Amino acid sequence: MNAPVSIEVLKQHLIDPEICIRCNTCEETCPIDAIQHDDTNYVVMPDVCNGCMACVPPCPTGAIDNWRTVLKADAWSVDEQYTWDVLPEQGTMALPATAGPATGAMTGGSDGDGEAQGIEVDTVRGAVVPPWSAARPYVNLYTHRNPTKATVVGNYRLTDEGTESDIHHIVLDFGSLPFPVLEGQSIGILPPGSAADGRAHHARQYSIASPRDGERPGYNNVSLTVKRVTQDYRGNAASGVCSNYLCDLKKGDVVNVIGPFGSTFLMPNHPDSHLLMICTGTGSAPMRAMTEYRRRRRLKGATGKLMLFFGARTKAELPYFGPLTNLPKDFIDTNLAFSRTPGERKRYVQDAMRERAVDVAQLLRDDGTYIYVCGLKGMEDGVLQSLKDIADQHGLEWNALWQRLKREGRLHLETY
Ligand code: NAP
Repeated sequence: MNAPVSIEVLKQHLIDPEICIRCNTCEETCPIDAIQHDDTNYVVMPDVCNGCMACVPPCPTGAIDNWRTVLKADAWSVDEQYTWDVLPEQGTMALPATAGPATGAMTGGSDGDGEAQGIEVDTVRGAVVPPWSAARPYVNLYTHRNPTKATVVGNYRLTDEGTESDIHHIVLDFGSLPFPVLEGQSIGILPPGSAADGRAHHARQYSIASPRDGERPGYNNVSLTVKRVTQDYRGNAASGVCSNYLCDLKKGDVVNVIGPFGSTFLMPNHPDSHLLMICTGTGSAPMRAMTEYRRRRRLKGATGKLMLFFGARTKAELPYFGPLTNLPKDFIDTNLAFSRTPGERKRYVQDAMRERAVDVAQLLRDDGTYIYVCGLKGMEDGVLQSLKDIADQHGLEWNALWQRLKREGRLHLETY
């Protein structure tokens, strides 16, 4: 007599290389290090992924949310995934009648519908849901395969000449093409040319620095805040492919754009909601967008408070210094932290937050407060620690509050 054959079936987690913008969010989010990348693709290790779904909501494009049901023995290896330009179709899988029950690693898959089920909020540090009143974002209207074009209508340096930080404000106009965006979303720019392996450069992601109704109200345009990259992460000389391309663009040049991306790092729309914004350097882009939207709405009766903590090396290297410091004090409570002012002690945003602990605590106590953190990866620990210290000092139990902020879409982190 034949013994029953037990065949293991796997709901294999895959990343769509055509949509992925290589932002590294999934790799950073994965609590069990099941995601890795090379110069071409981000891939999921089939024998490590447990389908916890922690990586799905933070992915700005939805490229992460792809699943194929395969025999476990036939799962695509990471080496195979590295060679892909497109995802394989779901094949038909003939199982012998005697096959045992499916024992795939997946437990909470969303079947590509983009909706995460049963996510353990504890595994991620920020919210995986938008504020309840956020407007509904459009995502992936344009992809690597069908990018759209925008014309450069402005490109100027934001930081003082002579400083090391060459940060540009770049305005892109879409003319009559639809490109609806919300504050907090990002777009991808496809730089011309190809990488060392001969493949076209993949897109680089930039947060939008302008509000939904345009850099100039009523125009179909967006602005970006781009720092020219001249060093790699070790400090060796290196020329950033896309940042140099963008910073050198002239008025009238045409760029290939994909996106928009992002469906959680969005601002609340109810007019009495408060924004606590914490950023460093070019991480100010979404804060500028939100602030400007609120400034325009304030004229129409928005009453919520805005508190900003903004860190840069020096005053001369802080993007938007002039316009920011000209905003009325009763509209936005701005706190700057400079780390490299000659003759002064190093000061980070988290130091400035501690100095304003009473007011930060008041915002933390208020259910209408939404917190946004954007900028250097390194700031995340320091900022979360200062929020914890401030909460604890003021009788708020941080761990419970942190979980609630995440559940209610009130703590958003975007750091690179
Ligand atoms: P930067 O000039 O290198 O740094 C800005 C400030 O942050 C400096 O004062 C720096 O101090 C300080 N800093 C360094 N480590 C810190 C820490 N652990 N905690 C708090 N502050 C710290 O910044 P940048 O080059 O503009 O980089 C901004 C980051 O934002 C980039 O990683 C970028 O990818 C990211 N981002 C950009 C966008 C965009 O749209 N362009 C959007 C989202 C995020 P030191 O003097 O110690 O260096």
